[in-house]
Amino acid sequence: MNQEECKLCLKQKKLENSHIIPSFVINWLKKTSLTGHLRNPNDSNRRIQDGQKIKLLCRDCEAIFSTYESQFNRKIFMPYVNNHMDLSGEIVKDGSLKYDTWNLKFIISLQWRIFSLGMENFIRADNDPNPHTELIKKTNEHFRRYLNSETTNTGNNNTYILFLRNINNYNNVKQLDLSPKLNHYLIRSYDASFIYNNSQLFYFSKIGPIAFITSILPNKLVGYPDSRVKLKGAISVIQKWLNEDLNHFIFVKRPKQMDLLRKKTENQKAQIEKAIGQNLHRKNDTMTLHVTYSDFLRSGIDD
Ligand SMILES: [Zn+2]
Repeated sequence: MNQEECKLCLKQKKLENSHIIPSFVINWLKKTSLTGHLRNPNDSNRRIQDGQKIKLLCRDCEAIFSTYESQFNRKIFMPYVNNHMDLSGEIVKDGSLKYDTWNLKFIISLQWRIFSLGMENFIRADNDPNPHTELIKKTNEHFRRYLNSETTNTGNNNTYILFLRNINNYNNVKQLDLSPKLNHYLIRSYDASFIYNNSQLFYFSKIGPIAFITSILPNKLVGYPDSRVKLKGAISVIQKWLNEDLNHFIFVKRPKQMDLLRKKTENQKAQIEKAIGQNLHRKNDTMTLHVTYSDFLRSGIDD
């Protein structure tokens, strides 16, 4: 039996295939897509059956994560998409969703899975080195200890949930130069990225129409008064977003970056296929970890 180190408990064990993007998100995207399948834009003929998986956790740790996932799915994700949102992604009903300690655990488990694994190399649209490498390592290790119940807090940071929605009816949006696939990006994609400059660092991820920001530097976000996740409480689905810089990232800059990445990937793929033939997609199983990660991101938009 092959034993490897579980990335969470650090014990030598047989590792399970873990989803990076939770399966309930993939299932919802499939169920609500035109065709009932997810389509990988890197290869329009190939359907992703079950999201991408990676050997990451032992069975015990995987079981812990899946209880958080299932609570988040039943008490936040499904109620939001089914009860508060219509088919166009507009919020049609105000209200708030109750949560308990599983909420923060779920979000941190998602952020940890994504950001402890080197994904940032593939999602950076510029070539500037991230100046916060040491802080990121330290934060990820603290997250690991929190998720493994070695500490009761997430460290010196705060986490926020944003309920995204179709923004066609907002007047000020019409004046901006936006991605032609903006609503698709906001509602129907998954994504992850560090947001940073020399003095700030945020972990950003989204699964369908729900986004998460963990504010590392500074440790609190200004301008999202209704979005902060506490240990337990209730969170409103209609929120004030007053942080111009982060709004610009989420609604303007990032969707355009994703458009560019998608185009670049399509071009590269066409060139490689031309050079080595049409069977590239069959070799996916043997590709390196890193290539798999880049696929998570670039396949995050379905039909
Ligand atoms: Zn483990």
